[in-house]
Amino acid sequence: MANKPHAALLASPGMGHLIPAIELAKRLHTHHDFLVTVFVVTTDSSTARSLILKSTSNLPSLNIVIFPPVDVSTELGPNPPLEARMNFTMIRSLPLLHSSILSMNPRPIVLIVDIFGTLAFPMAREFRMLTYVLFTCNAWFAAATIYLPVIDKEMEDRHVNHREPLRIPGCKPVPFEDTLEPFLRRGGWMYEGFLKAAQDIISADGILVNTWQDLEPTTVKALMDKDILGGITKGPVYFVGPLVRSIDSKANHKDEVLRWLDDQPMESVIYVSFGSGGTLSAAQITELAWGLELSEQRFVWVVRPPKEEDASGSFFDVVKGREECMDYLPEGFARRNHGVGWVVPMWAPQAEILGHPSVGGFVTHCGWNSTLESVVHGVAMVAWPLYAEQKMNACMLSAELEVAVRMKGPEGAAVPREEIGKVVRRVMREKEGKTMRGRARELMLSAEKSLSQLGASHQSLCRMTRHCLNHQMNGKVC
Ligand code: UDP
Repeated sequence: MANKPHAALLASPGMGHLIPAIELAKRLHTHHDFLVTVFVVTTDSSTARSLILKSTSNLPSLNIVIFPPVDVSTELGPNPPLEARMNFTMIRSLPLLHSSILSMNPRPIVLIVDIFGTLAFPMAREFRMLTYVLFTCNAWFAAATIYLPVIDKEMEDRHVNHREPLRIPGCKPVPFEDTLEPFLRRGGWMYEGFLKAAQDIISADGILVNTWQDLEPTTVKALMDKDILGGITKGPVYFVGPLVRSIDSKANHKDEVLRWLDDQPMESVIYVSFGSGGTLSAAQITELAWGLELSEQRFVWVVRPPKEEDASGSFFDVVKGREECMDYLPEGFARRNHGVGWVVPMWAPQAEILGHPSVGGFVTHCGWNSTLESVVHGVAMVAWPLYAEQKMNACMLSAELEVAVRMKGPEGAAVPREEIGKVVRRVMREKEGKTMRGRARELMLSAEKSLSQLGASHQSLCRMTRHCLNHQMNGKVC
């Protein structure tokens, strides 16, 4: 027992960070014989708690520490930008992380953080722990991040001012229209914060990416090759995905929406959800509601109250307003769609919905976890990116992997109902949708292969484990 390596994971706020951290923890514990502690920084402890309980109930030996939510409103005032709130929340959690690690026996030998957690690296080094970053997104985003410190100034001139594609060695260029938000404001605090995180990531002892070789072969090759991008990072890059929740088909309690899906024909339902944080304007909700009606397809829609200026409006608290009446939907919507559609307020059992045989399409904001959950269940997508790196993901899903149709609307205005109805029908009724489902199923099979004992993702975690064991054997942890 004492010789088992102990890994600590630090998950920053947001379900999109917590879910892959928990899945990685489970894998390290179950398949690689690690003791594991997951530190959870959250602003919404009740949703985080119920998700953790659900996904780790069969693994009581996983040590999960949920930090009490921190209030950063005195520093930042009301409604600060998402990245500022993430940053301050992480800073305020560091003393708790420090005292927790100090009291642990055996002391963890590795600290694995997501891209918002690199602030904890000096502390990890103080304890002589290995520092690892888990990219909870794809290899293309990881490549853009790692390359940023190399191109820094040059990027502004070519990519931002002249709107040229962002060229990353060995990878597909990033079209200007799909670029990352921080890149557009070089010199601003958002850009500087991202640049600092990128520099910390480069200096980490190892990098884990939630993807697999067959999904992104070109980018993976570039990140591994010392003469392309592999020479930029200090430590090796491991491709360990897909890290997605498995579905408990024997669960005693079955959600109402899943029981409704049981009664629908195979691949006849489109699921509509914008992740844990996504919100739409009132005008866009109205267009989406009418668009679904016009499509004449069965649907399950996770609805949230409208937010006018903030597409990530629920990111920090997905439970608020769960019970409220949905008077922001068009009059008569519920009556007209009775039996055809199912509306879920705020939060739905997404992994189970996407894994249900009745679901054939997914209107998604293209968060990376949602994307992977769709792919591993062979579901075709309508890509509707809202914020963060989601436009890059949408570009990859539609132009490269060909498992999604992209939703496009007028600049700065709501996507009209006619367009929504048309795109939903393309995915659900036309040959194009069937081809995309076939393509998604091929990717699903390659994901299964990669996670098997001899598969590339499993073997990557074996190599990472050896790295940690060597560190432990050399007695480097204090
Ligand atoms: N999720 C869910 N129910 C919901 C909305 C989201 O279970 O109603 C889960 C979803 O399955 C995914 C995660 O929350 O695992 C969202 O992560 P993603 O990376 O897709 O987007 P983010 O929320 O980080 O923007």
